[in-house]
Amino acid sequence: MQISHLGIHESVEAVFPPEQLREELSALDPTVAVVGDGDRDALADCDALVTFAYRESFLDADLEWIHSIQAGYDRFPLSELEEAGIILTNSTGIHGTSVGETVLGTMLEIARRLHRFSRQQVAHEWTRPDWDEPFTLQHEPICVVGLGTLGQGIAKRADAIGMHVTGVRRSAESVPHVRTVYANDDLHEAISDARFVALATPLTDETEGLMGEAEFDAMRDDAYFVNVARGDCADQDALVAALQGGDIAGAALDVFEEEPLPEDSPLWDMDDVIVTPHAAAAEVDYYRHIAELVRENAQHIDADEELTNRVV
Ligand code: NAD
Repeated sequence: MQISHLGIHESVEAVFPPEQLREELSALDPTVAVVGDGDRDALADCDALVTFAYRESFLDADLEWIHSIQAGYDRFPLSELEEAGIILTNSTGIHGTSVGETVLGTMLEIARRLHRFSRQQVAHEWTRPDWDEPFTLQHEPICVVGLGTLGQGIAKRADAIGMHVTGVRRSAESVPHVRTVYANDDLHEAISDARFVALATPLTDETEGLMGEAEFDAMRDDAYFVNVARGDCADQDALVAALQGGDIAGAALDVFEEEPLPEDSPLWDMDDVIVTPHAAAAEVDYYRHIAELVRENAQHIDADEELTNRVV
């Protein structure tokens, strides 16, 4: 494979300015240009494309390689890409710190009631919490479901603050910072003791609706559900019912079945639900991490080596 023209699809704008990545990659051998949806000729010139969104027009272009700036690739049609002979790589591996810090932050907000105080401040309201409301994260059990980049990023930070970390993965092999690893057949046992259940799996046929009525039932009624995976990994109606029925105490949600979260969703107004706009991984250096992955794979292509993070 030879890459002479690398395009940066304008959809990366959802995460960082495309020009920022173009400048960062300007020393690469291939020419690097920002490509818009309206510019079919520019897309036709590209043999590789860095993108956030997927477009059907990518299949008809002469692309050899698409790099997704996200870790999740559930929006890409894998078999069609394979048929078209287009390689797909993703950006797993770069979100452990950002998402790990976001999850730690939302857990601290909940435990120390900071989310309530932020809301009160907007209303100029001075109300101390009930004496038995605030708690500390130290010694609290957290179960991290999915122990890849995100899961390990969460586990490391939860361990650092003194939480009791357990986790669930497809095989029960040990993972740093995780005291007990359960195989995913034992999901209910794993989540039943946890004060926080953090979901960090990819969205696949197997994980769609992984957290549903039975799982929220299995959780403690003073437990909090944290979702940084994909909205469809949890059954959102079952989650709302569990929150309304007091089966769980609250949630910190970065991802939803429909994004943006519709204005009339009851999740917006629940006292112990924190809603974030699919921004758990956002950070000013995001484009630099993407540039590193793209540079690394450009070198692999030159050396005729296997690509890093290859999906198709
Ligand atoms: P990763 O590939 O490094 O890790 C995923 C892990 O989940 C793997 O260890 C895999 O074995 C495990 N897994 C898969 N199916 C499982 C199951 N049924 N039960 C238990 N474990 C299972 O990916 P990652 O970088 O950690 O990202 C994970 C997902 O998180 C992505 O696919 C994406 O959808 C989502 N994500 C969200 C954000 C955000 O901004 N909220 C950012 C990055 C990634």
